Amino acid sequence: MDKHMVIPAMPIPVYDEVDVLVAGGGPAGIAAALAAARNGASVLLIEQRGYLGGMATVSQVPAWCPYTDHEKPVIRGIGLEILNDMKSRMEPEFQQWWKDKLDWVPIDAEVLKKLLDDKMKEAGVRILYHTFISNALHQDGKVEAVIFHNKSGTFAAKAGIYVDCSSDADIAYHAGGQFEQGGDEGELQPGTMCFVMSNLDREKYMAYCEEFGPSLKHAINEAKSKGALNVVRDWAGISWVNHHTAGFNFGHIFGIDGSKAEGLTRGAIEGRALVHHIADWLKQTIPGFEEGYLALTGEQIGIRETRRIIGDVTVTADDFMNRRSFPDDIARNAYFIDIHMAKPTSGMTIAHLPPGESHGIPYRALLPIGIDNVIVAGRSISTDRATQGSTRVMPNCFAMGEAAGTAGALLVKQGMSGTRSIPIDQLQQQLVRQGAWLGEDIHAKYEKEESNR
Ligand SMILES: Cc1cc2nc3c(=O)[nH]c(=O)nc-3n(C[C@H](O)[C@H](O)[C@H](O)COP(=O)(O)OP(=O)(O)OC[C@H]3O[C@@H](n4cnc5c(N)ncnc54)[C@H](O)[C@@H]3O)c2cc1C
Repeated sequence: MDKHMVIPAMPIPVYDEVDVLVAGGGPAGIAAALAAARNGASVLLIEQRGYLGGMATVSQVPAWCPYTDHEKPVIRGIGLEILNDMKSRMEPEFQQWWKDKLDWVPIDAEVLKKLLDDKMKEAGVRILYHTFISNALHQDGKVEAVIFHNKSGTFAAKAGIYVDCSSDADIAYHAGGQFEQGGDEGELQPGTMCFVMSNLDREKYMAYCEEFGPSLKHAINEAKSKGALNVVRDWAGISWVNHHTAGFNFGHIFGIDGSKAEGLTRGAIEGRALVHHIADWLKQTIPGFEEGYLALTGEQIGIRETRRIIGDVTVTADDFMNRRSFPDDIARNAYFIDIHMAKPTSGMTIAHLPPGESHGIPYRALLPIGIDNVIVAGRSISTDRATQGSTRVMPNCFAMGEAAGTAGALLVKQGMSGTRSIPIDQLQQQLVRQGAWLGEDIHAKYEKEESNR
């Protein structure tokens, strides 16, 4: 853009001053806000939509990735609490299907939205919906206020600690943080416009799957070979919330940058067009879907990858493959490297850890270099691209958010504003008390200390 205009200087009201300000109400922001408030901080959570949930509700991503390492839950604490509470509000049949399961549990976006409103109210978190953070005032590596816009106007909000869970690290970006994005040539994982169909017949579909297997691989390949279906990958993620309703993670839109309005706009238009094409094909082809009704597409195309902060430590694929632990671990990750192809002509990149194995996520990977009072949690923490393909999933984001919010509250309560001044053992001990899982060694250490208290 060559042309510029100058906004005349104008006074901006300070809307609020809080201990911890959380930007973004996705899995990371939800857990950050709850953890900070439960640890005694005053919390303002700012979210651009009219509800919480992030990709799970905004973009209708239909299932929680695994909470376990195939042997035990590695994501516990607030993330597990939300999973279990969501299950408890579902219909009896759903509860029966998913009672003891922690991996790939379907998401009911409407149940989740209401649950999260209730949880925030209970914890005393102040929420400002329909509000977009557009800038950060900063000096000498310290954010002084965030600037936001909403129907009421333009405001500033000040906090002791800013927890940036915007998934694009917007606060860190506006505060002069450093970033990487995508691969060597800037390539990004594709977006997906997820959708919900109702009036389906689950039993008939399950009988079809008995014969042809799940994920519609067989039917997709047949349709692709005949030119009847225009998708790249022969896989559909289908998550049933009741006998008649399922969420779909199916199809890709390539080459969009989700940190740019133009990318999101193209993703919305092309994503919806692809969904209508897919839904028509599903109705014509798949047993049980004949009477299906396309009920909903995401408010925004689902975005897998944008900015990654450069933090004090960057978690790498080597750390992932070698199941490395760090002295300042605040969460553990067992999900596989799951990088969707950046171009229609390339393939998926997948790498699994053996059952029972995980690696650590250090607190330092949440600290953007050069910025003193911002903690970043969720999709955009400091990792290489391969590891982001793994850490990005929702259960991990809950765990990182819980750590960031807890750290924010501990820092403010002790009068420390620099994120790097927190005593790590104090943070880890508090996370363990809250039910988070940080690995056998850390648990053994703090369980012993707790029993000696
Ligand atoms: C198509 C797709 C399929 C996926 N499948 C799965 C899956 O099956 N299971 C799984 O667990 N994970 C899955 N993921 C990954 C996962 O959904 C995301 O990586 C995860 O939600 C990221 O969590 P987050 O809290 O960092 O951010 P998000 O969930 O993206 O939430 C960020 C929130 O911040 C808000 N926000 C952003 N910027 C601002 C701003 N400037 N001001 C105010 N508010 C702002 C947004 O509105 C949003 O609510 C999938 C992702 C995609 C796109």
